[in-house]
Amino acid sequence: MTTTATDAQPSSHTMFEVRNPATGAEVGQFPIHTATDVADRVTQARSAQQWWAAQGFDGRRRAMIRWVRWLAAHCEEFYDLGHAETARPKGDVQMGFYAGIEDIRWTASNAKRVLKPRSAPPGLALANFQASVSHEPLGVVGIITPWNVPIYTVLSGMACALAAGNAVVVKPSELSPGVAKLAVDSFHRANPDAPAGLVSAVTGLGDTGAALCQSGVDKVAFTGSVATGRRVMATCSETLTPVVLELGGKDPTIIAEDADLDAAAESVVWGGFFNAGQACVGIERVYVVDSVRDSFLAKVKACAERATAGTDELSSYGPMITSGQVDIVRSHVQAALDSGATALVGGIESIRPPFVDPVVLVDVPEDNPAVTEETFGPVIVVNTVPTTEEGVRRANSTRFGLGSAVFSTKRYEGIARRIRAGGVTINSALAFVGMASVPFGGVGDSGFGRFHGKDGLREFTYAKSQARKRFDMGPPVQAFPRTAEQFDMVRKMIRWRYERRLK
Ligand code: NAD
Repeated sequence: MTTTATDAQPSSHTMFEVRNPATGAEVGQFPIHTATDVADRVTQARSAQQWWAAQGFDGRRRAMIRWVRWLAAHCEEFYDLGHAETARPKGDVQMGFYAGIEDIRWTASNAKRVLKPRSAPPGLALANFQASVSHEPLGVVGIITPWNVPIYTVLSGMACALAAGNAVVVKPSELSPGVAKLAVDSFHRANPDAPAGLVSAVTGLGDTGAALCQSGVDKVAFTGSVATGRRVMATCSETLTPVVLELGGKDPTIIAEDADLDAAAESVVWGGFFNAGQACVGIERVYVVDSVRDSFLAKVKACAERATAGTDELSSYGPMITSGQVDIVRSHVQAALDSGATALVGGIESIRPPFVDPVVLVDVPEDNPAVTEETFGPVIVVNTVPTTEEGVRRANSTRFGLGSAVFSTKRYEGIARRIRAGGVTINSALAFVGMASVPFGGVGDSGFGRFHGKDGLREFTYAKSQARKRFDMGPPVQAFPRTAEQFDMVRKMIRWRYERRLK
């Protein structure tokens, strides 16, 4: 089939501009796609999906591996554009790129094993049947992504949806659409023979995202804030469109008395300040056991004071993305200090827009916004607890439940098990996020549904059961008229199977 690698651009559109948050320089202009544009993309995707589904697991794997190779060969384009658009150090951009490319590799290589039809036991009463379950593609998946990990959220969502046999229409954030669109377009650049529209991007503001929710797609995979997630779910409920919601977090870390404090301090600082703390799984709260508090705080202070905000290659992290985000950080730091908390590192003076230097706050009341709400900035709260049990109780006391971490040399298992979160890293930070084979997602206000791993692949399919009759067995129970003989036979079977035989 002849195809085009790029999306046909509509002729006349209102445009929005994207500016580098550090310099204010314009990076690009993008069209605001309308509901009609979105509907056209979905129609085109629906037709292309037939071709994609017909490629089967092996054909799709080959196309996706071609895509992985293309991405690896063009990684510099992503680093340069990601840096130009969001002013993040290229090292931060690279981490998102790596996690995305690894998701594509894993889903491509494992979709057949995970999703291929499998036989299932038919049960005693239907022993004359053969049963099986297949996982069918949903059709067209709408993917709505945030600004903060623009490459990763696009590639990861596309990986699961495509490997499962779906077409995709992606609506990236209006704050970082350029690098996200490059990620979307890369599939067709690697696979010029794939039908146009199998994968496409629509750009715009919230209304374009809302139009995608209303467009009749077969599922919406949304990654973003809790507030927008609620709106997405409300909109999708009108058409009973299923949703995956990957939302915000307020990730806790517990430091036990037997923790390696050097490793813990280093990880907490990196996990809290990576990407200027603008990470859904960034470490925002730390609960340290009293007996090691002073030693831990001294190490955190030393590590945090080495972290620098800036845009050059050696900066630890870049600027805040918007002035609104700076305002949230300022209000949380101020609220904590007003409530009697101590600034171990930095303070209000650390806020020098668009940058925020590292801030570590100690002894913040648990009902303070700096503890209860997502800060999404380079601010870490460290509170002291008498025991790890109390640490777990406080860790579980927010509405969020995305990631978490535990530092302990011997007792990590019991602590980790009791934290209510979609993932936990032991003796390090954020590690499960970069593992394509394990599921990623949250509980509570952090959302529901999963990307990555087997669960992520199944998320973009529906289960279809098949039951084939092989032979007749006894008097038919699935036919009229009913007989006393049938009733008696089933009665005996129920009592034998469930009363006497069940252990
Ligand atoms: P956001 O909610 O402001 O925007 C996300 C996307 O939703 C954007 O593309 C936006 O245009 C679109 N949108 C806005 N209004 C919409 C509507 N009414 N209908 C449909 N789409 C709409 O989020 P953001 O500021 O870009 O990202 C930061 C947030 O995302 C943080 O809360 C962060 O924790 C979260 N996040 C979560 C994960 C995760 O995997 N759990 C990953 C990254 C970021």
